[in-house]
Amino acid sequence: MRTTIYRARVLDVPSDPFTGGQLRSDEDVALTVTDGTITGRGSLAEARVGAPEAEVLDLRAGILLPGFVDTHVHYPQVRAIGGLGMPLLDWLDECALPEEEHMADAGYAGQVADELLAGLAQAGTTTALVFGAHQASAMDVFFAAAEGSGLRITAGLVVGDRLLKDTLHTTPDAALSEAGRLIETWHGRGKLRYAVTPRFSLSATDELLAACAQTFTSREDLYFTSHVNENTAEVEAVAELFPHAAHYLDTYDRHGLLGPRSVLAHNVHPVPAELARMGETGVSVAHCPSSNASLGSGLFPMRAHLDAGVHVALGSDVGGGTGFSLIKEGLQAYFAQQARPDGVPLAPEHLLHLATVAGAHALGLDQVGHLSEGMAFDAVWFRPQEGSTAEAVLRSAASAGDALAKIFALGTPADVAQVWVAGEAPRMRRRPPSCSADPG
Ligand SMILES: [Zn+2]
Repeated sequence: MRTTIYRARVLDVPSDPFTGGQLRSDEDVALTVTDGTITGRGSLAEARVGAPEAEVLDLRAGILLPGFVDTHVHYPQVRAIGGLGMPLLDWLDECALPEEEHMADAGYAGQVADELLAGLAQAGTTTALVFGAHQASAMDVFFAAAEGSGLRITAGLVVGDRLLKDTLHTTPDAALSEAGRLIETWHGRGKLRYAVTPRFSLSATDELLAACAQTFTSREDLYFTSHVNENTAEVEAVAELFPHAAHYLDTYDRHGLLGPRSVLAHNVHPVPAELARMGETGVSVAHCPSSNASLGSGLFPMRAHLDAGVHVALGSDVGGGTGFSLIKEGLQAYFAQQARPDGVPLAPEHLLHLATVAGAHALGLDQVGHLSEGMAFDAVWFRPQEGSTAEAVLRSAASAGDALAKIFALGTPADVAQVWVAGEAPRMRRRPPSCSADPG
């Protein structure tokens, strides 16, 4: 058994602020962590009595937050970040799909996998639902790198059989057999899990979606992820391709792809029947505000989601999104709601909840999202550099809520001094986020 005591100022949101939960703030608390799990939370004196031999790390120079959970980020699109000025379908053709084709080269795929995993960890993201590549070989490369990193990763082979590029198209039979092999090899290994991933209905025939459903229902612990209602041109095109479907969501629903283990990205343009069905089936929506703003997709109707009881979490949507930071996504979510006439007034505790517990819930990971006893020690040490604006502003914070607001207003990956997943620093082949803490 290995025990470490982390003495820190801790902010987290263990219960849902959308239904009355509050920000929890402890100015000076000791978290006892044994083999990656928080086994005690209290005063340093209590912690020392419980674990007299344990090393004490003093993190009070910064603020300790739960690790962030990104529910929508594309592995092959790291190098597509920055394609500004295009709506979704043009952006896919010009920026994203050429990168997706490059993933057929295993060497290239390996470099991008390392860039993605390092980008996540450097931004303080400890758990992610990753939209994979179209090539099974690239997924083997990715899962191997993800396993090595120690991050909690759920991902799967992306499939499409029309309207992409010929080189990216698959068949229902190939989709079935390749997913089967990947699940056999990687699902449940370490912190890895598999998600069945049709790109979106625009690029999938009913036969391919049926094959996805066959895979999804082949085991009880797989995930399903795709896109829905991102952009109005996309919504119209899907309606033309599926004339018998009641709406976009129905193209997935009719195959049995919706449930509590389903995460759909965007949903910027839902009709009321879709929201009602999402609430009924327990689907989670990955809200990706930077991407929605960058691609001009629209302002997310959060109020309508909450009213329909639809679970909402956050996604960076790299490379439609503009970086890996869920701190930035929280701020962008706040902006989007400020800009909508019916916007939900998001307080700092809502933003932290969306970036942590909400994502953990969407991914069915009860052991991460806050820093209570019994949880895994997945944490981010936010410590702005001395002399920076963030450091000066944070020092003047009037309250815990104010400090958290300042983190969301100014925080960047440069302020992430250290990350732990189950008590371990992520292992990166690229530059890891690390900064030594002073033993206290
Ligand atoms: Zn996406």
